[in-house]
Amino acid sequence: MEDYLREELVRRNYSFVYTPHIAKRELWQISGHEQNYADSMFAPTTLEETEFRLKPMNCPFHIGIFRSQQRSYRDLPQRYAEMGTVYRAELSGTLHGLMRVRGFTVDDAHLFCTPEQVRQEIDDCVDFAYQVLKTFGFEKIKFELSVKGSDTSKQWFGAEEQWANAEAVLAAALDARQIKYERIEGEAAFYGPKIDFKIEDAIGRLWQLGTVQYDFNLPERFELEYIAEDNKPHRPVMVHRALFGSIERFFGVLIEHYAGAFPCGWRQCRWRCCRLRIASMTTLRRWRPNCAARGCESRQTGAAKRLAPRFATRRCRRCRLCWCWAIAKWKMET
Ligand SMILES: [Zn+2]
Repeated sequence: MEDYLREELVRRNYSFVYTPHIAKRELWQISGHEQNYADSMFAPTTLEETEFRLKPMNCPFHIGIFRSQQRSYRDLPQRYAEMGTVYRAELSGTLHGLMRVRGFTVDDAHLFCTPEQVRQEIDDCVDFAYQVLKTFGFEKIKFELSVKGSDTSKQWFGAEEQWANAEAVLAAALDARQIKYERIEGEAAFYGPKIDFKIEDAIGRLWQLGTVQYDFNLPERFELEYIAEDNKPHRPVMVHRALFGSIERFFGVLIEHYAGAFPCGWRQCRWRCCRLRIASMTTLRRWRPNCAARGCESRQTGAAKRLAPRFATRRCRRCRLCWCWAIAKWKMET
């Protein structure tokens, strides 16, 4: 999964970054996580009279990278990608295998662009997300447009017209692709509306995986600027996006989707060497490096006992193996 994504990101001009796992509490106050997301964050820890908190998201660090130098409109869009491990204080009752854990890795990315560029960036993100889900064999994808709507139970940052404009850009990207979606009020991120990609697992449960989010708030709160063509500072727009979402969850859903029998074309597919009747151990040992050379996991069975061909195939099928090298003196069966 990571290798595939990395290749795609290189092609799309993303920069790979690595950011810290912990930050001063102040940072989370500026970003608004402290006010809006504290319930999902681990409690602060104090070191030399300074309070620190584990990161629930990677956004403020990527903002820090953008802010580290003056940016011109010619430098935009800036696209930062990270396999970023984040920490969420989930209650023990809600934990669920690989699907919901307290520390997980997001294939996170933040794009910083001009307001004129944002539509194109969102279009590319939606296409990219769609491509990823298709590549991994998911056909039933549910799209949701999560907006603020008339919900007043939460604290939302930003002016009404900014929310409306952001929602219009996201909706236009979906409409242009004739994607059917459900509009959900009150489910937006505190900094802006978002498109969520959900897929159905083997027993019909819906899991949220990827997301594309339009953010006009964090650039404001962190006072981000770029120098535009008029030689004056302007505020960029930010897009948060994750395609797998939580890598742990995506992998969990993937295992259930294929019931462990992954398609043969995927890299790292598993091979197994089986020794059939009459074959000598020396022949078997000679074959094992062939598997390793192809980058495949190889395991040897029947070391103690020689297997009948039919029995060897059945055993491999039971183990959900893609390929089985059956080694025999008189013939080779796959
Ligand atoms: Zn983010």
